[in-house]
Amino acid sequence: AHLDRIAAVDGAVHAFLHVSAEQALDTARDVDGRRARGEELHALAGVPIAVKDVVVTEGLPTTAGSRILEGWVPPYDATLVSRIKAAGLPILGKTNMDEFAMGSSTEHSAYGDTHNPWDLDRIPGGSGGGSAAAVAAYEAPLAIGTDTGGSIRQPAAVTGTVGVKPTYGSVSRYGLIAMASSLDQAGPVTRTVLDAALLHELIGGHDPLDSTSIPEPLPSLVEAARAGASGDLTGVRVGVITELQGEGYQAGVLARFHESLELLQRAGATLVEVSCPHFRYALGAYYLIMPSEASSNLAKFDGMRFGLRVEPTDGPATAERVMAATRGAGFGDEVKRRVILGTYALSAGYYDAYYGSAQKVRTLIQRDFAAAFAQADVLVSPTAPTTAFKLGEKLDDPLAMYLNDVATIPANLAGVPGLSLPSGLSDDGLPAGFQILAPAKADDRLYRVGAALE
Ligand code: GLN
Repeated sequence: AHLDRIAAVDGAVHAFLHVSAEQALDTARDVDGRRARGEELHALAGVPIAVKDVVVTEGLPTTAGSRILEGWVPPYDATLVSRIKAAGLPILGKTNMDEFAMGSSTEHSAYGDTHNPWDLDRIPGGSGGGSAAAVAAYEAPLAIGTDTGGSIRQPAAVTGTVGVKPTYGSVSRYGLIAMASSLDQAGPVTRTVLDAALLHELIGGHDPLDSTSIPEPLPSLVEAARAGASGDLTGVRVGVITELQGEGYQAGVLARFHESLELLQRAGATLVEVSCPHFRYALGAYYLIMPSEASSNLAKFDGMRFGLRVEPTDGPATAERVMAATRGAGFGDEVKRRVILGTYALSAGYYDAYYGSAQKVRTLIQRDFAAAFAQADVLVSPTAPTTAFKLGEKLDDPLAMYLNDVATIPANLAGVPGLSLPSGLSDDGLPAGFQILAPAKADDRLYRVGAALE
């Protein structure tokens, strides 16, 4: 049914870069056989899933939305993909994204735009617009995204889906094509909070192949979601972040946000106003730290190891000329912009002024979170300041594009988990998102509060 739906609507939505129909059907048949034999199966066995194209999949093309990886077929699976396969979820295909996960609209993909199923003239968010659009368009019931500065949560917000960025280190990064290694986390994109809990639990847990993986087991997310679904939040303290509302936020987005706060109060939660004064510097710090790490991570795309190789026309094919020709042709403008920014920020003489200062701001943001979580069990804000904007509207204005991430970036800088769920339709008839944040390793709180709101 999902493959039929993809065939019917993906021409217009373009959520997928690659559809793996045969492989998905093989898995589905295999699960049917195991079920017929009475085998005990995972709760999600047989439920199809779409995977963001930044996650490596053995035998399936993986491009990270970039020309430079065109034609590359990974020889191994990311840990989260191995877990999905072991549980018997058919993989429908790979979803579109901003090149190397750099963007908030999926317009920086080298393979064309993804369209928001709510209004095909609008962006589906980014960088994981393909995963969110696939779920919103009923092409897939579940999807995997990655979130470095909001790329799961912001697309979820603007497509009316549920998206979760787990605690840093709680889902293995082994087999994710790295953007900014200290910020990247993979997580679920789904239609309900309980679905997200099931998928999050499946892909999470310790992995010796990721040196930043948290060794101890974390609290059950599915139990927390079930507890929250009862609708009782008595005793839960919800902190409303002063700095993440007001100026720059669309009126309808704020109106839905305040309605969700009322729902929380009616469920028995107590609201407290909390201030995180350093959040206003989060965007600036992020756009130094992220490009710095990305400039280093992307150095491996040299025209020799993976995918594209372009022969130089300006002289003999020395390593340097092949690298320059390949990177010049294979990377898009946004990737080049960030590699240049990051290389500059890390260079001798500027390191302390830029990268060093940004790391200090990061510490201040972590302290803001610590102080806020002393007063509240979870923190909340709108996920993104506006609903989906028109395709092309912000493409020529990188700063306007970056501003979409004001509310999502602080969580990545501090490593704390965040969940976005729909809070209703804004005045323009488009979905608005409600963001819940919890302390590191307390992802269960996201699910308890989120399920109570659903
Ligand atoms: N939109 C942000 C950026 O462009 C976030 C990206 C992400 O989370 N991968 O960097």
